[in-house]
Amino acid sequence: MIAALVTEPGVAHSTRVEQVDEPAGDGVLLRVLEVGVCGTDREISEGLFGVAPDGADRLVLGHESLAVVERDGSGFARGDLVCALVRRSCGRCLACTEGAPDSCLTGDYRERGITRLDGFARELVLEDADQLVPIPRSVGRLGVLAEPASICARGVRHALAIGARQPWTPKRALVLGAGAVGLLSTMLLRLEGLDVWTASLEASSEIAEALGARYVSTRTTELSELGGFDVVVEAAGNAQLMAKALGLLRRSGVACLLGIDGRAQTVELDGRAIGVDTILENRVLFGSVNAHRQDWLAGVAALDRARARFPGALEALVALRVPLDRFAEAFAFRGGKATLVLDDTPAATGG
Ligand code: BGC
Repeated sequence: MIAALVTEPGVAHSTRVEQVDEPAGDGVLLRVLEVGVCGTDREISEGLFGVAPDGADRLVLGHESLAVVERDGSGFARGDLVCALVRRSCGRCLACTEGAPDSCLTGDYRERGITRLDGFARELVLEDADQLVPIPRSVGRLGVLAEPASICARGVRHALAIGARQPWTPKRALVLGAGAVGLLSTMLLRLEGLDVWTASLEASSEIAEALGARYVSTRTTELSELGGFDVVVEAAGNAQLMAKALGLLRRSGVACLLGIDGRAQTVELDGRAIGVDTILENRVLFGSVNAHRQDWLAGVAALDRARARFPGALEALVALRVPLDRFAEAFAFRGGKATLVLDDTPAATGG
């Protein structure tokens, strides 16, 4: 038996560490080193989201994985560091059959640790080789950021592709929110060579500045005073800010929504921003979820570049690391990325 973090979807506060069977069957056997915790895990744990695998009443949590290959096979060698894709094909739509379940057209996909598939918050797990993404040794433990980095990489890739539908040279970007998704979006936009302003409610963000962005506290600065932006990324999960994003764009600007705000509410939208400026200035507001394999590869490569270019920033972003049985602390934490550590031996990452 092995330890796993399980929950009963739909039942608030049912999250607990339990002994589950060791994995058996086909696939690459992985020893999980660490899993990141995000807002989706918190929502599942509060009984608001998540679906157990068919026929089961509990779901193993954890979709932000970092693992080490335990047994040679399928092109991987024991000791290789890897992370695993989250979403699995519905098997029947155009996007899924073309290898893009991030753009699934039916909604019948499954997601590890979220929807109908157990996750990675367990000591050992079997995974299909084609769902694995190698993590370079140089990235090491920072590989636990690969999943949120892939989400941001998809958003930025789509924003730049949408912008590039017409002649355009993006220069100024605004990131709303300075949590893990906001800061990783900041990282990617900085690596793309844009000038980045990162804004949130906090008084300061050393990490945003270490990533070469200008930090703006929305308590003291009105966003409209900053001038218009070519790219806006909403990573605060605030529907009112999402609506406001459209008014913060300049000509041909593109706003990407990554945060989720499920509150039942009505938000205000400036009539001229949508009714006039969006049309006369060719602006776009779009949402992005999940990530294509190319975004995972881009996200991991960006982590490696950022690690060298902005020393210490990503290390500081992983702000709380606790063992599995202290999951409640990680779920309650609100100051950067919290992770659950299943194996902390330096040798596991070649240290
Ligand atoms: C995950 C995505 C997933 C989404 C919706 C996010 O937290 O990062 O991979 O598609 O939740 O379930």
